Amino acid sequence: MAQHYRLDFVLLPQGWAPDALVTVAEDGRISAIDAGGGAGGTGGPQEVERVSGFVVPGMPNAHSHAFQRGMTGNTEYRLSARDSFWTWRQAMYGLANRIEPEDLEVLATQLFIEMLKSGYTSVAEFHYLHRRPGGDHYPDGLGLWDAIIAAAAASGIGLTLLPTLYQTGDFGGAPLKPSQARFASDTDWFLRAVEARIGAERSAAPAALRTGAAFHSLRAVPLETLREAALALRRIDPALPLHIHVAEQIQEVDSCLRQTGRRPLELLLETGLLDEHWCLVHATHATAAELQGISAAKATVCLSITTEANLGDGFFEAARFLKLGGRLCVGSDSQATVCPAEELRWLEYQQRLRKKRRAVLADKRDPHQAAGRSPTVMSTVVATPPRRRRSDTFRPTRSPLSKSSRSSADSTACPSNSTMVSPKRLGRACPSLRRPARRGPPRAHTEPAWPRPPRTAGAARAPRLDATATGCPGRTRRDPRRCPSC
Ligand SMILES: [Zn+2]
Repeated sequence: MAQHYRLDFVLLPQGWAPDALVTVAEDGRISAIDAGGGAGGTGGPQEVERVSGFVVPGMPNAHSHAFQRGMTGNTEYRLSARDSFWTWRQAMYGLANRIEPEDLEVLATQLFIEMLKSGYTSVAEFHYLHRRPGGDHYPDGLGLWDAIIAAAAASGIGLTLLPTLYQTGDFGGAPLKPSQARFASDTDWFLRAVEARIGAERSAAPAALRTGAAFHSLRAVPLETLREAALALRRIDPALPLHIHVAEQIQEVDSCLRQTGRRPLELLLETGLLDEHWCLVHATHATAAELQGISAAKATVCLSITTEANLGDGFFEAARFLKLGGRLCVGSDSQATVCPAEELRWLEYQQRLRKKRRAVLADKRDPHQAAGRSPTVMSTVVATPPRRRRSDTFRPTRSPLSKSSRSSADSTACPSNSTMVSPKRLGRACPSLRRPARRGPPRAHTEPAWPRPPRTAGAARAPRLDATATGCPGRTRRDPRRCPSC
């Protein structure tokens, strides 16, 4: 049965509208928006749920690796003076080679709940875990794909599953390393599996699920294989969403240049494959000509600023790209932060830091909006929404979960928030709860030699800090009002 919501204020393509009536059809999709305050044929006021405050369109999360939620916060320490994306990747491989389908389902369920709570209402899951640790296929099918689908169904988030082709360890056809064995995917197997999944979706009842496909990167998929697979996928579904990581790292660009004489984005543009169904993830080190090419092809760039900042990737020329008419979307990627508002805030702040100006990405004609397009359009650029969704330019950002489900997700004792796993399994799924074996006596902790602040008159004793008691490291347990930070 359709549901009706009366909203105090809602953001529509034409701007803020007061007192709007939104109808959500039985399949969970918005079927009507009456911004005039009319009854809208609801059949009676008792059937309308009132939603107070301001409501904005739900955001699609266009790039996610759910399993990496298991290491959030666990790589924030220095290993060497040359820590980088590549050293982080080794830690990520360590986690990737421990995850089993049941772990992934739990991790992803919790992550998708967090996404819903932060305002993402659908997610494109870029999924390259296919095999068992060691490289054998699972005997009972694609357990790791099914784990993601089950997690999306349990949480209520819309899912575009992007099974990801992954064949080589670097440009030039380098073989996969043992730590990459779980990602290995033969082209025929991959195409058959994706086609079977799409066929099953076509014959099933409408659901908030769609299968697309991804190529991990040009490092992981030789260009000729990518071309053949992309054309084969187009024959299966002409509008199939196709995603790829590209030009995220300088080392990646340099390696591509050495092997092929071309930059990664040059190679991709030269294939002539790109169109509005392609999403280029990162494209951090795109030249002006490459940005022009992406914009002309109508492909979208997905930025994950919090992940790109976390990994030290570099700056994307967002202002230039929008000026060229380029299309952007955002994603949570490594789950360093799961919040669309933060991604958009730091997208703008990144440009401010780079250009030493303010409001860089704002539209000249409408200074409250991003340049070139309304927030609604931006939210649906590469939304890869579930098939047959027609009017989902707006979705309330309300989690469909019950209060009991929410509270279990909130009760976090672990910095990776993996509290929905039993303690035994949690030790496997969450590296932050795995205590390393202690060798030898504990090392004495040495305080850094910070200069001591001058003591002021009447301050007999420095306040005792207790971050856990007050939530603020500057507050004292005895007298919170004396905190100089608050
Ligand atoms: Zn990624």
